[in-house]
Amino acid sequence: MKEDVSLERETFAAISSPVGTGAIGVVRINGPESHKIVKKLMSKRIDDIKYRMVYHVELISENQIIDEVNLVFYKAPNSFTGDDMVEIYCHGGVIVTRKVLDALIRNGARLAERGEFTRRAFLNGKINLIEAESIYRIIEAKSEKALKIAMQNLKGALGKEIEELREELLNILAEIEVSIDYPDDIEIDENKIYMKLEAVAIKVKKKILEGRKGLHLSTGVVMAIVGKPNTGKSTLLNRLLYEDRAIVTDIPGTTRDVIKGEIDIRGVHFIIADTAGIRKTEDPIEKIGIERSIKEIQKADIILFVLDATTGFTNEDEYIYERIKSYNYLPVWNKIDTNNNIKELEIPHIEISALTGKGIRELEKKIVERVKEIIESGETSHVITYRQYEALQRAYKYLDNALKGLKIGLEFDVISIDIRKCLEEFDKLIGRTFSDDLLNTIFSNFCVGK
Ligand code: GDP
Repeated sequence: MKEDVSLERETFAAISSPVGTGAIGVVRINGPESHKIVKKLMSKRIDDIKYRMVYHVELISENQIIDEVNLVFYKAPNSFTGDDMVEIYCHGGVIVTRKVLDALIRNGARLAERGEFTRRAFLNGKINLIEAESIYRIIEAKSEKALKIAMQNLKGALGKEIEELREELLNILAEIEVSIDYPDDIEIDENKIYMKLEAVAIKVKKKILEGRKGLHLSTGVVMAIVGKPNTGKSTLLNRLLYEDRAIVTDIPGTTRDVIKGEIDIRGVHFIIADTAGIRKTEDPIEKIGIERSIKEIQKADIILFVLDATTGFTNEDEYIYERIKSYNYLPVWNKIDTNNNIKELEIPHIEISALTGKGIRELEKKIVERVKEIIESGETSHVITYRQYEALQRAYKYLDNALKGLKIGLEFDVISIDIRKCLEEFDKLIGRTFSDDLLNTIFSNFCVGK
């Protein structure tokens, strides 16, 4: 494993609990000087520190008691980071935690960079890159299901599977190399190689398909709200969001921009797009909005087709219907508090009043039902970041090349190039090989203190 020499010998500290007041604040210090620095601040002198034990002491800096705290000392490599480390549990509060951090810094630590604790854990081989990314995902999880997958990954599910595939590929490669080196002695069974390679490719493909679903879960299911002007799309969006993010007015065509909101419905994270009313228009600005709406529809996982019970099904509705009927849409008749002028479409509809909130629960239930397929098949997925997803896709491409090459009878030394490239992708995926740029990108998403 490559070592990050410049950072290795430095001692850094950060507040690890969220900003604000809470019962307990956590400050962490990591690195070779960490024990010495904390001992200097302790009210009691303890010569023979026991690791992973809780010490209750006062912290004193510049002859002043900062706080009464609990301390846990960790000795490398038995810590989260794999370095010497101390965790300080002080009273929660912006001032107290800051003062503890200040004292550590005054005594020789520097402020940690974003994600630096997790980065150390990775560089020390405590966790692989997929696990490191999962830690970020756990903190950031937008839905219960995304959290569940992130937890699975932290336990190493995806990393382990990739390690296994990597082993299989290495075995195949070894067989090929031996036959290249000793062409006279070793006869290679091409069929067997093909079958083994194909088995790996099938597994990778499965991961990619699951991964696509997994991406939905971690970033959200995209839902578009479409309908002619004034059907109550913005009102509905606000109902769903419980806040005034969209402009609601009486003038047709005012919601010109695609306004996004995010919402959790029954444990599923939705990204909601309120779109401009789709209709024939000569207004150039409105035209732009309408084009955006159509694009939004194409990207959406589910479309709410909002219809107005006061107007009934009009030509304008027909115009929209023609454009969305081949997508995953759900007809929603709105304003049923005033009128019941509704028409059945091919798909069973839902009746609501965005204004009074009537029928919203059923609508939410129906929406979740309709995206169930995405969610349920995503549940088994381990792939949750674009980086991992893309690496798997590249890996598959190389495997596919190798298989095609075998089929048309290419030489084994050519085939082995693709296999090696696939191995490189696996290595990048689990972090056996990595660049500083990649690490910076990954860890810059973290907050300081993680
Ligand atoms: P949009 O153009 O589709 O976004 O429609 P808006 O959300 O701006 O709503 C247009 C008008 O219809 C507003 O005056 C809303 O108050 C009204 N409206 C929306 N939903 C309902 C509803 O369920 N019942 C009634 N009676 N009026 C509604």
